[in-house]
Amino acid sequence: MSGEQQILINARVLRLGGDLDLPPVADVLIGGDGRIAAIGDRSEFEATAPKAAIIDLAGHILAPGFVNAHYHSYDLLAKGCFESQPLEQWGLVVTRLGGKRSLEEVRIRTLLGAIEALRNGITTIQDFSVVDPMDDAYADAILGAYAAAGLRVIFSITVRDRSQIDTIPGAAELVPADMRSAVGDAAGDPEAQLAFVERQIDRIGERNGMVIWALSPSAPQRCSVKLLEGVSRLATARRLPVYTHVYETRAQRLLADVEFYRHDGSLLRYMDSVGLLGPHVSIAHGVWPDEREIEMLARTGTGVVLNMLSNLRLRSGVPPIARYRHHNVRLALGSDNCSCSDVQSMFQVMKLYCLLGGVMDPAPSTLRAAEALSLATLGGARSAGRSDEIGAIEVGMRADLIALDLDDPAFRPLNSVARQIVYAETGRSVRHVWVDGRIVVRDGRSAIVDEEALAAELLKIMPRVRQDIERFQSDAAKLSLIFEEIGRRTWSADLSFSRYLHSD
Ligand SMILES: [Zn+2]
Repeated sequence: MSGEQQILINARVLRLGGDLDLPPVADVLIGGDGRIAAIGDRSEFEATAPKAAIIDLAGHILAPGFVNAHYHSYDLLAKGCFESQPLEQWGLVVTRLGGKRSLEEVRIRTLLGAIEALRNGITTIQDFSVVDPMDDAYADAILGAYAAAGLRVIFSITVRDRSQIDTIPGAAELVPADMRSAVGDAAGDPEAQLAFVERQIDRIGERNGMVIWALSPSAPQRCSVKLLEGVSRLATARRLPVYTHVYETRAQRLLADVEFYRHDGSLLRYMDSVGLLGPHVSIAHGVWPDEREIEMLARTGTGVVLNMLSNLRLRSGVPPIARYRHHNVRLALGSDNCSCSDVQSMFQVMKLYCLLGGVMDPAPSTLRAAEALSLATLGGARSAGRSDEIGAIEVGMRADLIALDLDDPAFRPLNSVARQIVYAETGRSVRHVWVDGRIVVRDGRSAIVDEEALAAELLKIMPRVRQDIERFQSDAAKLSLIFEEIGRRTWSADLSFSRYLHSD
């Protein structure tokens, strides 16, 4: 996106290597190419930009925009529909919201999620997207919405060729034939899915860096060797990052022990056998790997995107954050689905990252708020191989910036900017947001989308959506006894370690 030059003056500029408690006041020149052209005193560079717009940010912090490294836009309209329940039961409703929806609904839901993210200071989001049907128009509806909101997206299209019912331990045996489709009994064709993804990459391109392509096998247990090998080949040929779900729940751990015995009971060894570990790969969640697998992640440079909000919401347990830190596993942070974290805000995610260690170990940790801040910005950028482009305020990098208002109660008194962003802020202070040098949120509202008109469009489609959610919930209720039994089996099976706290 090219535009006019701007000089942002008088803000306290938060640079990750600098003073994070009281960042110094500096001026920032945004070039017409959407990149940061200079940082310092404007007297040093304003002669090079005589026509630049001057934007006074006195009383603000200028921080790098957040990079949310794990998110799904498809269930946004189910926000607030669920109490806390296990992933397998929640999935009975949400997975059905992903497919066969109208293009209008897809556009509206993606746009709403994008605006929420931006208003919370997220400037890049990894949408682990469901494109169902696999039709060009659906990919266009999603990416059109991101373009309309002005949000940068790390975009991936989910592929899988094993059905849901075949990957939940006990489900194929217990669910009656007439209810199998409600759980999910369709598998995709590996070649057709990969061909679709490749065609979208060629057809749509990177749109000047606003679309960063990635690949997303849904989860290793949901994909055949053939499909994973295809993903691996495509990732290498096109130099693309890969995101996949691994070990989110105890059930998935147990499934690995039983079904992947040829790979030593390890989904990660299965991934390794098809070339899908390495610095270009990030696994989402990583709640249930064992110690040897954590070492394997570290050794191969494979990253983990932690999603503590959804792990707690879906009763999946607490990821082994201390072990990841001990082994120097590359980390990033995500908020996950709209219906299992209910908020697109890295403020909540950073705070949980810092606090959760305390439920396992009362001793003081070396974990600092600055680390959470770095993971929520550069960590996410690194997961996509783009930490030289986004995630920090440095000359030459894309101008993805947020201005936080120091008048907000979260910053009164101002003792430490980093700690108050992580522990005190809720998203309320985000006043202005730039992506690629373009102002996309001004005074806390989208600067380019008519939010009121969008709300009116949403009202029109919601009766139908609610009807469908109720129907899916009623089907899920019919399966509740069976899924309670699946849960009992899962929780009573032996495992040598736990990610839950036990009172005994
Ligand atoms: Zn996910």
